[in-house]
Amino acid sequence: MKCAVIPSEARNLALVFLGRSAQRRARFLAPLGMTPHGFWVPVSRYARATALEIAARARRSRHARRMTIDMENIATQTDRPALAESIEPQRLPGFHIMAKPVGPICNLNCRYCFYLEKENLYPATASWAMPDDVLESYIRQYIEAQEAPTINFAWQGGEPTLLGVDYFRRIVELEKRYADGKRIENAFQTNGTLLDDTWADFLAANRFLVGLSIDGPAELHDCYRVNKGEQPTFGAVLRGLEYLKKHGVEFNTLSVVHRRNSRHPLEVYRFLKDLGSTYMQFIPIVERMAKAPDPHGLVLIGPRYEAEAEVSEWSVEPSQFGKFLCEIFDEWVRRDVARYFVQVFDVALES
Ligand code: SF4
Repeated sequence: MKCAVIPSEARNLALVFLGRSAQRRARFLAPLGMTPHGFWVPVSRYARATALEIAARARRSRHARRMTIDMENIATQTDRPALAESIEPQRLPGFHIMAKPVGPICNLNCRYCFYLEKENLYPATASWAMPDDVLESYIRQYIEAQEAPTINFAWQGGEPTLLGVDYFRRIVELEKRYADGKRIENAFQTNGTLLDDTWADFLAANRFLVGLSIDGPAELHDCYRVNKGEQPTFGAVLRGLEYLKKHGVEFNTLSVVHRRNSRHPLEVYRFLKDLGSTYMQFIPIVERMAKAPDPHGLVLIGPRYEAEAEVSEWSVEPSQFGKFLCEIFDEWVRRDVARYFVQVFDVALES
């Protein structure tokens, strides 16, 4: 297992990994509960040295899957610049980083969102947008560090549309400037509620692949995905999707599998097909809530938290998640193979 870290001053830049094959990546990342495409850690001046240390440990380890990574420790470690300076970035065939250029800032207030409260970790932050110089360094380094002919950028949030279209025009401009003959691709994860003609036109013109977050039909989506006023968001998401379709933007869907929609697998699956989603990701949610906020003001606590806590009411039950996938698989394998793609099935079948 190889890994690389791109040293960066980015406070809100995601960072990390890569094996040579998707199979090896999945084998490594699955025990960590992360996607087979790589994983991210929030990089801050506090976290950067720790991220580099993780990379160094992974380089040394023949059995990297045994590593455990405590995300919240990463975010709260003290800086160790000497360590950071001692590790040189490697050039690798290819890897994925997920960038979060607006940090945890979002226009919604999804009840299960693990990320919104992470704002508490940086109380003095006035602006969450990744600064221009950091953005430029990130794009340049990310391209330089890979020998692959195609470079895949992934932009996430919070909600990246809050940065405005011009921010992403600048991104595309920088990507072109530093492409050095490589093909550049962009993926963009959004809750869809702020999409309009301008956004959709930009995304289509620059061939962004859009991941739309939607948890199923209205009643299963709106039970947790609400806005700051606790109002449903389903209608706004569908409006956003209509803009994507109108402009011919390529999209796929990401659905959180929670306590409620997990009981309606075929309803969710068929609904997504009817929407026109041909590539689906299902992400199970299991979160523990502390009885009282931890010293950083966080309630959704990590696995090593030892004080009193309970599993949140929206967490999917393990057996129900299994049933959810099995029911969808049975329908998919009979009718939909090669027409619809379900990420977790692809990974399972590939390994
Ligand atoms: S849209 Fe995403 S980032 Fe925003 S509140 Fe919902 S889960 Fe969190």
